Parts: sequence; C-alpha cells; structure tokens
Amino acid sequence: MVEGKYRSRTYRRVQRKTPGSKNVRAFVRRKPKRARCGSCGQYLKGVACQRTYKMKKMPKTAKRPTRPYGGVLCSKCTRLKLKEKVRKSEKK
Ligand SMILES: [Zn+2]
Repeated sequence: MVEGKYRSRTYRRVQRKTPGSKNVRAFVRRKPKRARCGSCGQYLKGVACQRTYKMKKMPKTAKRPTRPYGGVLCSKCTRLKLKEKVRKSEKK
C-alpha cells in the first residue's frame, strides 16, 4: 500500500509511462481553480492555471493576455470599462 499522504484525494492518480515503457501510477497535486473575471465572474480565457512552480517557469505572455486589465477582466468587461473611462475623461 502507498504512503498515507497518497491515500487521500489531495493527489490525483495519473497513469504515466516510464522511459522503460512501464505503466506506472503517479500521484500529482491538483491544479488550482481557474481565474474568473473581476466584474462578471466568467472564467477568463488565455489565463494559465498551474501550480506555482510551473507558473514561475512560464513566460509572462503565456500567463495572461497582454492588454489593459488582462488577467483581471474578461474582454467584454474590458471593452465596457474602457468606454466608460473615455466617456468620463471627455466630460471634464
Ligand atoms: Zn467580465
């Protein structure tokens, strides 16, 4: 039987193939929850969702869309927010 900590569902069970082509059960930590839009709560697209040690290796451009409010608001809410901002600046 495996170690006690692997008996809980904290770890996912994944079938992996070793270099010697053996099928082995690996225990992998679960992914964190996906990022949501700060305004409407929709899941954000183009935002990576990995454990921190993998996120650190990733380039910044792979983690979130490169636009204002990228990784914070969805594209729909971003467009609304920018329009609102422009309208406010024109009033002054
Ligand atoms: Zn949104």
